[in-house]
Amino acid sequence: MAEVLVYVDHVDGAVRKPTLELLTLARRVGEPVAVALGKGAEGTAGVLAEHGAVRVLTADAPEFADYLVVPKVDALQAAHAVLSPVAVLVPSSVEGKEIAARLAVRIGSGVITDAVDLEAGEQGPVATQSAFAASFTTRSRVSRGTPVITVKPNSAPVEAAPAAGAVEALAVSFSALATGTKVLSRTPRESTGRPELTEAAIVVSGGRGVNGAENFAIIEALADSLGAAVGASRAAVDAGWYPHSSQVGQTGKSVSPQLYIASGISGAIQHRAGMQTSKTIVAINKDAEAPIFDLVDYGVVGDLFQVVPQLTDEVNSRKG
Ligand SMILES: Cc1cc2nc3c(=O)[nH]c(=O)nc-3n(C[C@H](O)[C@H](O)[C@H](O)COP(=O)(O)OP(=O)(O)OC[C@H]3O[C@@H](n4cnc5c(N)ncnc54)[C@H](O)[C@@H]3O)c2cc1C
Repeated sequence: MAEVLVYVDHVDGAVRKPTLELLTLARRVGEPVAVALGKGAEGTAGVLAEHGAVRVLTADAPEFADYLVVPKVDALQAAHAVLSPVAVLVPSSVEGKEIAARLAVRIGSGVITDAVDLEAGEQGPVATQSAFAASFTTRSRVSRGTPVITVKPNSAPVEAAPAAGAVEALAVSFSALATGTKVLSRTPRESTGRPELTEAAIVVSGGRGVNGAENFAIIEALADSLGAAVGASRAAVDAGWYPHSSQVGQTGKSVSPQLYIASGISGAIQHRAGMQTSKTIVAINKDAEAPIFDLVDYGVVGDLFQVVPQLTDEVNSRKG
């Protein structure tokens, strides 16, 4: 069976969930071969094997940590040269998309970014994308070279599918470009203890209706009861109530969680663009005519200051 390269996003050997989702999709088009780079790469093999990786190609070198993306592109290109895979799959992070684009240019291939689904096709993998603020769903396939496809987090379930996961060293020689941009320092973001917004299975967002930074505590309490990430509309961000890094929408982040709860958000097209592909959408809004109700699975017409705390209490009481 044809092999599919899967680029592994990990932190010191801890594989991030979008990579496991990629393995689910990879198995639809071929045998997944994972490429794990940098510190802790070998430590990824166990979990990758549990989720279907037939082989795990690893490489570690100071270049992966000390320089930006080019050393990783060099490594992925080396893996591509060894395997001749039917596709290369990369998580749709900012870094992932840069790696994918650079790789595609190097190997003369077409690239598809931000896919939300992937299936096997007679002439190669077919990717589904959600386009123009989620107004259209497109299906595309790369018609030149090895398809390089980035896939958004939460596009597929994580599924156990035990495979050999044989660890092999990947030989990489770095191009002259690899050391072009050096990382001088790193400052870890202060942890909120909540999941990363773009990867979270549940997102609870607040908008202008939250009416003040201090009131975001009730949004956070609901999020914490559900183990969710917190998002915000641009109106809430522009008002300085929540950081821009939490903005959902056209000029913020795109999320596609299993459950999206919007509180005090009207549902402007620019907000919808960032959350419309969520699997189940719930809105709490005191205006029954708010456009957000056009796309919800469940809508609550009510004052969020009453509804959200009650919901939080109910969730917490059921956990007990
Ligand atoms: C180029 C461009 C890019 C943009 N990018 C983004 C983006 O990335 N993300 C984004 O979100 N927006 C974006 N916007 C802004 C967007 O057009 C809207 O202005 C914004 O989404 C509105 O935010 P909101 O829904 O929180 O506020 P509003 O539209 O003011 O809605 C507030 C809602 O809260 C409800 N409400 C009020 N009080 C309560 C209460 N007590 N209980 C329950 N409900 C209550 C109201 O009924 C109302 O529906 C962009 C705009 C432009 C022009």
